[in-house]
Amino acid sequence: PAAREPLLRTEGLTKAFGGIRAVDDVSLAVAPGELRCLIGPNGAGKSTLFSLLAGLQRPDSGRIVFKGEDVTTLSPFRRVRRGICLKFQTTRIYRGLTVGENLTIARGPRGGARAGERLDWALGTLGLASERARPAGELSHSHQQWLEVCLALATGPDLLLLDEPTAGMTPEETALTAEFVLGLAGQGITVLVVEHDMAFVRHIARGVTVLHYGRIFADGTLQEIEANQEVRRIYLGE
Ligand code: ADP
Ligand code: MG
Repeated sequence: PAAREPLLRTEGLTKAFGGIRAVDDVSLAVAPGELRCLIGPNGAGKSTLFSLLAGLQRPDSGRIVFKGEDVTTLSPFRRVRRGICLKFQTTRIYRGLTVGENLTIARGPRGGARAGERLDWALGTLGLASERARPAGELSHSHQQWLEVCLALATGPDLLLLDEPTAGMTPEETALTAEFVLGLAGQGITVLVVEHDMAFVRHIARGVTVLHYGRIFADGTLQEIEANQEVRRIYLGE
């Protein structure tokens, strides 16, 4: 029987800035329902790869195929409509508007009943359900990070890209974020997470991809990656 079509596939994705190949010949496949962590040293190209996937930047070469369709040249908006949504590394909320207003703006054409239920679950889990009337700018740092994830979720994504979702969080908040991401995956959303906190990665990851100088350096299960001596040397600093 034919192998199951991946939800997302990239072929030879490359993006250079001047002489630096930030993303260099990246070919990867992500299966529907997968929860995968993307790790690698600072400057490895993780955020650039996400930006290419979301359509914020165009690759110099290579292709991005989502649900069997070549989306390489589609705008970010069209990709959101097809079900790819990125949570930025830095927050992009409207600080002067309330939590509820931010959510209304984010809710896209894909926001059906199922997306609405998921969003309610997310807001409850993350302690935002009671904050709907509050200006987003008054939320704590972590609640703003979580709101940002909820805004991405409000678009009704099939593939959610999270770039360092636990930046600046306490260990307890990081653990809650991990449980939340596991919950998302449990609801069938495919999730790719860039994360440097290895406690978080160990908590959630089944699959791990390691980027180094823009290239896929290693790819495997969490156990395989942690046992890989070369990965330990370049990334875990051993
Ligand atoms: P990571 O997210 O893994 O830390 P980035 O994707 O942010 O890495 O960056 C990868 C490389 O590309 C780095 O060397 C960075 O300096 C460079 N880079 C990223 N974005 C730009 C840009 N807009 N202009 C020039 N160089 C960039
Ligand atoms: Mg980054």
